[in-house]
Amino acid sequence: MTDTNTQRKAGTSGGDALREAPALVWFRDDLRIADNPALNAAAASGRPVMALYIHDEISEGMRPLGGAQRWMLHHGLSALDKRLRELGAGLLIKSGPAADVLPQVVAQTGAAEVYWNRRHFAAGIAIDRALKSRFAETGIIAKSFNGNLLHEPSLLKTGDGGPYRVYSPFWRAFERQGEPRRPLPAPQRLNAFEGMIDSIRLEDLSLLPTRPDWAGGLRETWQAGEEAGLEKLADFVANGLPGYADGRDFPAQENVSRLSPYLRFGMISPYQAWHAAGTGTASAHDVEKFRKELGWREFSWHLLHHYPDLQWRNFNDRFDRFPWLVSSPAIDAWKEGRTGYPIVDAGMRELWRTGYMHNRVRMIAASFLIKHLMVDWRVGEEWFWDTLVDGDLASNSASWQWVAGCGADAAPYFRIFNPILQGEKFDPKGDYVRRWIPEIAGLPNSFLHKPWEAPKDALVKAGITLGQTYPKPVVDHSSARDKALGAFESLKEAS
Ligand code: FAD
Repeated sequence: MTDTNTQRKAGTSGGDALREAPALVWFRDDLRIADNPALNAAAASGRPVMALYIHDEISEGMRPLGGAQRWMLHHGLSALDKRLRELGAGLLIKSGPAADVLPQVVAQTGAAEVYWNRRHFAAGIAIDRALKSRFAETGIIAKSFNGNLLHEPSLLKTGDGGPYRVYSPFWRAFERQGEPRRPLPAPQRLNAFEGMIDSIRLEDLSLLPTRPDWAGGLRETWQAGEEAGLEKLADFVANGLPGYADGRDFPAQENVSRLSPYLRFGMISPYQAWHAAGTGTASAHDVEKFRKELGWREFSWHLLHHYPDLQWRNFNDRFDRFPWLVSSPAIDAWKEGRTGYPIVDAGMRELWRTGYMHNRVRMIAASFLIKHLMVDWRVGEEWFWDTLVDGDLASNSASWQWVAGCGADAAPYFRIFNPILQGEKFDPKGDYVRRWIPEIAGLPNSFLHKPWEAPKDALVKAGITLGQTYPKPVVDHSSARDKALGAFESLKEAS
């Protein structure tokens, strides 16, 4: 990646600020202006403000972003640049290892102060700590803030001073910390830094997918950026949140917020989501349920902070001996929504088309891969990482491990979701399945979640030839279940 494509003036207004040492704001997963403690601190310093984004996928331990996230990031950076320009500053974009790039920008601009919001995964923490010490040695002020989690993972401790491994006591400790602070207002204007500095163009980060059909589905579904995120939040509080506690499990209903990609990239903050939830007409029960879901996000980050291996190692190492598969033709059928189980296939097609899958269906589809197909959870985690617009280091690995039964506070391995009953219970009218699998839409509800049981005339009437227009099941539910339970039993016996 070339680093010097354009010479760009960082600000738009002229004046005496020209040679004044700027305060630099390093944007990461906090692509917003409002409720951004680092940006507010830079603005309050009275210095010219310089906003910087460093695309760093090559420093040790930094996980390259999945394709759908890259799309979201591209448009999120573009939206952030626009917002910053409205305030008088623009976004400087760089690429490369942050430990080298940030000091170079500080040297080139003569920055006296550097601000950022903290991140909570091992590789990021290591880079940030090293940079802080390096700046301290050279007399540059470097300050970090908590902008992306409601409570810092390092501050929540069990009675023995260790991290939490179970959600309920974690949540109680979370509540004991008191109500999260109120969101901070956005700065009204930024005193822009006027120096010239090399920037690369957003396009040169090559974040957009090369497959146009894929990008098309993402474009139809999402608008990236802070403004879009805040609009979605307001719409959810008015329309989705009333009834959320019961409705959130039904994928055809409009009760979930779909805020996850905005929270993932910090286009909105969890503080904004938390407090906005209390401003509408939803019942206290709905509001509490929603806040508890934000709590699951916090719990996932708490786990990843304290157990950095969570991304790739079984939290419960007893599962290291589990005979999971890492390759199987059924994996492609799963990815492409061709397993023959309509609720699983609908979810996988929703994911591919939109970069999103409803939480209930994520659980069913993940369970199917791990337990019916006996595939290693890491295979599924990787696919979700690549295809979810909200792909999140902590929530993705914690949730996959939860479903697999090897995670913290996990669903027991022997609890195996029945994809037929789950479909019938949570998509009783079949609206969700019909939307994503139009080729079986003509089946009556009684067979929609198990087309292989439909009588011949029902299949003919619906225009379905099983095995041709829609697949036969890749595995039989009962035998797959028995096989998975058998493997689990042998694991128990071996330990
Ligand atoms: P809402 O129900 O409106 O919830 C509001 C917010 O709370 C979400 O945006 C999210 O930030 C948080 N939240 C809700 N449920 C959970 C949960 N179970 N765990 C953690 N946070 C939660 N979530 C991600 O953000 N990124 C992921 O990569 C991710 N991968 C997952 C993989 C699997 C196998 C499973 C079962 C779940 C995964 N989740 C992930 C959690 C959850 O499915 C999504 O957060 C949720 O579906 C997002 O939709 P929403 O914003 O409409 O949720």
